[in-house]
Amino acid sequence: MPKMTEMTDEELVSYRDDCFEHPYYNNLTEAQTEAHKELLIRLAAGREAMARVKELEKEVERLKATAVCIYCNKIMVADNGKDKLSMMIDHMSLCDKHPMYKIGNLLIEIDRLKSDKRELVEALEQAERRTDALYDATFYKILTGLITKHKEAL
Ligand SMILES: [Zn+2]
Repeated sequence: MPKMTEMTDEELVSYRDDCFEHPYYNNLTEAQTEAHKELLIRLAAGREAMARVKELEKEVERLKATAVCIYCNKIMVADNGKDKLSMMIDHMSLCDKHPMYKIGNLLIEIDRLKSDKRELVEALEQAERRTDALYDATFYKILTGLITKHKEAL
């Protein structure tokens, strides 16, 4: 007979039922019988509670490994290969509802416009140099005025 604390749930239930049928109970006072029954019932309840604790701990681990994108509701569960944070970071660059994705696109647009502006500044500076080379007081005044206006507009 294994120790009660080492019995499976089925063994414990069967043992409890056997106990209540056992002639031993006939020799106990009613209070003793009740106390014994209560002990067995509490032990079974304790085992049930511990089994529930194990389930809940498993659920906590699952939730700890789970990330949800609050913008598109995609659920991501970390596996052996990837942790939750790197999964979220990867997702941010793919989720068109995520602000990080939008920020990324805006930064690309800003870079493109800045690069356009650099090209324009270079073109204006080239025009300035050419104007110097083709020096004519009136022509120079008109052109440098135009170039300055364009530069100020940038
Ligand atoms: Zn998303």
